[in-house]
Amino acid sequence: MTTEVLVVGAGPAGLLLACELALAGVRTRVVDKRAQAHRESRALNLHPRSIELMDMRGLAGRFLAAGRTVPGWQFTASLKRPLDFTALDTRHPYALLLAQSRTEALLAERARELGVPVHRGCEAVSLRQGAGGAEADVEGPGGRATVRAAYVAGCDGGHSFVRQAAGIGFPGTPESVTAIVGDFAVADHADNERARRHGVLVARLEAGLTRFVVMDPARIRVPSTEPVTLEEFRTSLRQVCGTDCGIGRPRWLSRFGNTTRLAETYRRGRILLAGDAAHVHFPVGAQGLNTGLQDAMNLGWKLAATLRGRAPAGLLDTYHDERHRTGRELTGLTRAQTLLVELPLTAAYGASAGLLCELLDTLIGLPDVNRHLAGRLSALDTAYPPAAPGAHPLTGRRMPDIPLTAPGGSTTTRFYEYLHDGRFVLLQLGGGAPADDTPGVRVVQATPGEAHPSLAAVTEVLVRPDGHVAWATRTTALRSLRTERAHALARWAPGNGAA
Ligand SMILES: Cc1cc2nc3c(=O)[nH]c(=O)nc-3n(C[C@H](O)[C@H](O)[C@H](O)COP(=O)(O)OP(=O)(O)OC[C@H]3O[C@@H](n4cnc5c(N)ncnc54)[C@H](O)[C@@H]3O)c2cc1C
Repeated sequence: MTTEVLVVGAGPAGLLLACELALAGVRTRVVDKRAQAHRESRALNLHPRSIELMDMRGLAGRFLAAGRTVPGWQFTASLKRPLDFTALDTRHPYALLLAQSRTEALLAERARELGVPVHRGCEAVSLRQGAGGAEADVEGPGGRATVRAAYVAGCDGGHSFVRQAAGIGFPGTPESVTAIVGDFAVADHADNERARRHGVLVARLEAGLTRFVVMDPARIRVPSTEPVTLEEFRTSLRQVCGTDCGIGRPRWLSRFGNTTRLAETYRRGRILLAGDAAHVHFPVGAQGLNTGLQDAMNLGWKLAATLRGRAPAGLLDTYHDERHRTGRELTGLTRAQTLLVELPLTAAYGASAGLLCELLDTLIGLPDVNRHLAGRLSALDTAYPPAAPGAHPLTGRRMPDIPLTAPGGSTTTRFYEYLHDGRFVLLQLGGGAPADDTPGVRVVQATPGEAHPSLAAVTEVLVRPDGHVAWATRTTALRSLRTERAHALARWAPGNGAA
């Protein structure tokens, strides 16, 4: 098989990107240096926007069946009140507790179904690019081989080889604080609540395992490179909450820190970066894996359109423009969140930092504050700046999953069902003359099954394959509508002229 895109890294970002490319018919190959998928819990949850992404591809059911939903998530462990996701405008107003290993297994299953080869035990060890493509030397069980591709996507984690080989800088701030994490067999959960009250993150996983994350003031300056022992874990738990919570044999122990970095660019020529290869931060608020999934969704269709000659000029560069901006906001937010965790553990601020946290707990109880922070953490509020001034306010925002009624009132569907095959959707709500369906754009004529404030008086919406609105209008006059629509299609999906 000739490879059009080589994805380096079979973590969540690499697997989803490969699936998105395969869905668009791009010949994709994934390599990962690990011989086996890992079994660590690591990222523990999918936030509402990530569940929506899975819903857009018809996969939400699989993910929801594999995990457990909770009504919100902590902004930081130092605050007593979690953010309430039930207040969010989504069909999935909850966080889904699912160990990263399960998330990866589900994405790998999807990749298999789409026929993507995932080569494990294969490490990219050198990388070159030229005008016509890129090539990587990959060392695997059968020796060293050169893989040529039109593009290489570096989804190879925080220490990304691809990023370094492409000479892309990774500026940011070094580690100053660390925490310890462990997955344990626990027979008796009587002390869990007590641990939580003392700021320990406790989460029950599948197979009888429980995850603990502890920040012991006496140990938060220990560098993340120093291994964690079971004895240290027990001592720190006792130190922080007066009990070792009955932890038994650990499945996984690790120490992680707050190194915060953002790649200076997400694209250099034929090399692209996604996930932790592009951004790392303290995993406060559980945003890392989720952001990587959103990177992959943003990049997949743009790269596919570029390879198929259907991309308007500069489309691939909008990947950097949109996602780097999101990465900057993310790393800024997590730095602020980390400070809120660190201050109460720091002798000089302990008492006053406690008062600050009390104040913030009160503020989070206010619906508007909760709505703002939950909107950011869940990524439901991620919006890309509209290219044109005067664009409809929905432009760049996520399209809500509204119920729809087909003409004649016979069948009721919901919008995300039309995104399953990863094409643009032109949704005609005004009942005007239908546009033609074409390979890259699906045309849907329907009326909203319920009023949605952001769609008031909207007659047509063009929605990107990643579920963000490319164009929306309230125009009703047929001739103007046709002109506007043709302009939008030419701007986003030329060659698919459904005008
Ligand atoms: C303790 C902890 C808790 C966390 N909790 C959360 C959470 O609750 N929510 C959340 O969203 N995030 C969380 N995160 C962050 C999350 O784990 C990462 O953001 C996520 O794993 C990044 O996914 P990725 O696909 O970008 O990279 P990775 O998962 O790091 O995958 C990269 C892959 O690339 C492979 N690779 C590396 N180099 C090469 C090479 N040269 N050739 C071939 N393959 C290579 C690796 O083997 C690996 O499989 C947590 C992290 C930690 C440490």
